[in-house]
Amino acid sequence: MEARDRRLAGGRWNAAMKLAMVGTGYVGLVAGTCFAETGNDVVCVDVDAERVARLQEGKVPIYEPGLEEMLTRNSREGRLSFTTDLAEAVRRSLIVFIAVGTPSDEDGSSDLRYVLEAAKGVAEAMDGYRIIVNKSTVPVGTADKVRDVVLRHTRHEFNVVSNPEFLKEGAAIEDFMKPDRVIIGHDDVRVAEIMKELYAPFTRTGAPILVMDNRSAEMTKYAANCMLATRISFMNEIANLCERVGADVHWVRQGIGLDRRIGPTFLFPGVGYGGSCFPKDVRALLQMARESGCELEVVAAVHRVNEKQKTRLIEKIVDHFAPNMEPSPGLLKGKVFAVWGLSFKPRTDDMREAPSVPVIERLLELGGEVQAYDPAAMEQARRIFGERIRYSPNNYAALEGADALVLLTEWNMFRNPDFPRMAKLMRQPVIFDGRNQYNPRELKDLGFTYYCIGRPTI
Ligand code: NAD
Repeated sequence: MEARDRRLAGGRWNAAMKLAMVGTGYVGLVAGTCFAETGNDVVCVDVDAERVARLQEGKVPIYEPGLEEMLTRNSREGRLSFTTDLAEAVRRSLIVFIAVGTPSDEDGSSDLRYVLEAAKGVAEAMDGYRIIVNKSTVPVGTADKVRDVVLRHTRHEFNVVSNPEFLKEGAAIEDFMKPDRVIIGHDDVRVAEIMKELYAPFTRTGAPILVMDNRSAEMTKYAANCMLATRISFMNEIANLCERVGADVHWVRQGIGLDRRIGPTFLFPGVGYGGSCFPKDVRALLQMARESGCELEVVAAVHRVNEKQKTRLIEKIVDHFAPNMEPSPGLLKGKVFAVWGLSFKPRTDDMREAPSVPVIERLLELGGEVQAYDPAAMEQARRIFGERIRYSPNNYAALEGADALVLLTEWNMFRNPDFPRMAKLMRQPVIFDGRNQYNPRELKDLGFTYYCIGRPTI
């Protein structure tokens, strides 16, 4: 009997499995910790030795609600450990997940360097049959590329599974523990059965595990993210039109969201989507389509609309402070802008492709001064802006002497602030709200000039 057949014989495992998670970023750490939480024996591997050393001390290098407590508990109870030693991790595990980054390459395609390097490392360390699982978001055909790389570097048997991840930063634990669905792409039905066993504790409330071929699994992840990005760009266009024709997107959004065929989520207009996934996945799908000689016109428009939307708030700021003037360096000289929110969305410290970055860069180019506050992303912001902006210890301190507040991330703490206190701290009571957090009528009554997205200025 082949080694693979011996390992897979019987089908049901029903016991804690030994897993390795390669990559301890947002996805690897959350997935590794949640698998440990359900009783598996998990070792997480990273090439970043400093990151691993911090994790070994129980310090979580990212901000993700609930993660530190769960990670520390599972480490203490011996189900979760961290190492830089890939070979050792592979030798002690049956299933090896690859959860490394897949950033955009220069042409927009997904850079598979880290995935393929990890696959090579896994292959070289294998001392017997392994299941290699792609958890990173990867273009269609990557399972085959991983298979080729592994084949070249080992004589042992293996299977490649595509298991894309759908968690959201800020609610990652909740999403992983209670997924809407789990997608398993596979090349051997027995391996799919093992993956179903592994995920069974997360799908007890009825979430389906969809088993399909590798290519469809890879495509599902891109199609999901591009669909969500499409909803956002669509609503941003509708919001911009609302402004022109005197409609209020606040009502329009609710009016369409109550249609069960549409549903209420991902319909909020704003300053454009950002983050580590939507922008790069939209670009990667477009590039994948180009390479296949196929044009994705809707997705191309989604990307263009999003790029434009990032400048909407700046246009409003220039119109307010320098009406009828062409934007030029120094136009906003002497103006101080308080910025609330830097991360690409609330409950994360992630600033990858955050709309705050182009907005702040443009304010600085136009000669404005920026004093910013974010509950979690101040350290990330320092890496991006250095000494070019001021960092405030809290949201009210950011308002001192400001000519305007620019709200860019809808953290809960910004939802219901003390407006009279704000007006006293600011040089001028002006708010540019990129996330439609406040009631225009109330703000007018409180003496604010209030601009938002897709709603009439009262
Ligand atoms: P990340 O950048 O936060 O983490 C990647 C980690 O992998 C880093 O710590 C890096 O040091 C490590 N790494 C790189 N090469 C390695 C190697 N050869 N061996 C070991 N470690 C290595 O990335 P992320 O945000 O966790 O995303 C990982 C993948 O998951 C991406 O493909 C992403 O598109 C996808 N994804 C991300 C999210 C999200 O919300 N962040 C959600 C779903 C899917």
